[in-house]
Amino acid sequence: MPLLFSSGGCRARQPPVSVNWLSMSTSAGVSAPADQAAALPALHADASKAFTEIEQSLSVFRANSDLAEVNRHAGEADVPVNTHVAVVLDYALRIARESNGAFDPTVGPLMQIWGFRTNTISAPPEPIQLAAARALVDWRAVAIQPHTNSRTTVRLNQPDMRLDLGAIAKGYAVDLAYRRMQPRQTAFMLDLGGNLRVYGEAAAGRGGWRTGIRNPFDRNMLIGTILMTNGEAVATSGNYERFVTLTGKRYAHIMDPRTGWPVQGMAGVTVLAPSAMEADALSTALFVLGPEAGLRILRLHPDCEALWVPDMQPPRLLVTPGFKQRLSLTEIWRDHLTTVP
Ligand code: AMP
Ligand code: MG
Repeated sequence: MPLLFSSGGCRARQPPVSVNWLSMSTSAGVSAPADQAAALPALHADASKAFTEIEQSLSVFRANSDLAEVNRHAGEADVPVNTHVAVVLDYALRIARESNGAFDPTVGPLMQIWGFRTNTISAPPEPIQLAAARALVDWRAVAIQPHTNSRTTVRLNQPDMRLDLGAIAKGYAVDLAYRRMQPRQTAFMLDLGGNLRVYGEAAAGRGGWRTGIRNPFDRNMLIGTILMTNGEAVATSGNYERFVTLTGKRYAHIMDPRTGWPVQGMAGVTVLAPSAMEADALSTALFVLGPEAGLRILRLHPDCEALWVPDMQPPRLLVTPGFKQRLSLTEIWRDHLTTVP
């Protein structure tokens, strides 16, 4: 959920009004300025409809989604897909290329063997299982083909390959909802499982919307807040969001496709971007890449800014200069900040 603040201003103003619900297996929320509360039900309806539509196309958990159909025919056939799948997959493959496979939308077999699909394992997979799953994770083996008079087709070149667009689908869903809500000309903040996008201002003169950034070492605490201006998006990838516990150790849901192991050494990454899909894809990619390699891919996304929280003690925050400008840290985090060029 976004955490909203009513700081500033010389007289007390009413905080925004919100509605929260569950969608795409996570929490969703819309907020509007208090003086525009009457618009909230319509905004909620737009967002809820858009999220449901995307879930039906992109969920790996739904047997009848377009994505499940592509997976079912892996190694066999070109499968026609709707525009949502075509757009999201195309962008996912771009980030895969830019990140040299650190971000990979064919990560499905690794999610499976690490117990994120069936929860039936109690220890990390054996090397032979890891090798077999890794061999199936290869974004270059996805053939996406636009056609002039019919739908785009997608083919996975090996049997048992599995697309998983969990790193980007929520961001895309937020953008779709945003485009449908914007013509209502009411300010709002939209959230889907930590993928946020804002329109207008939380109240006149605020300059946008302020949201909290969670402390990954203690989810109930904040590192600070960040100001989002009109149209901007923020996404956070965290090791606390989803994890499995195997032989007493926690493993988070973001895989390093190069090793086949869940990423270790990173607690959280937050990205500020012009669209929610870009923020979502990059937050996952930068979680895998870490700050050094991550900065190289950020150069290809000049409007994006990032914050990394490595999983180490004492804690450190690494931020790009543009992120720092928007960030307002809580007292205890101020000494832990390093700006990366
Ligand atoms: P997010 O919370 O946006 O960082 O996305 C995490 C989700 O993306 C996981 O639950 C998987 O479904 C998927 N995923 C995990 N590792 C990767 C990866 N290296 N590249 C792309 N998607 C991934
Ligand atoms: Mg993501």
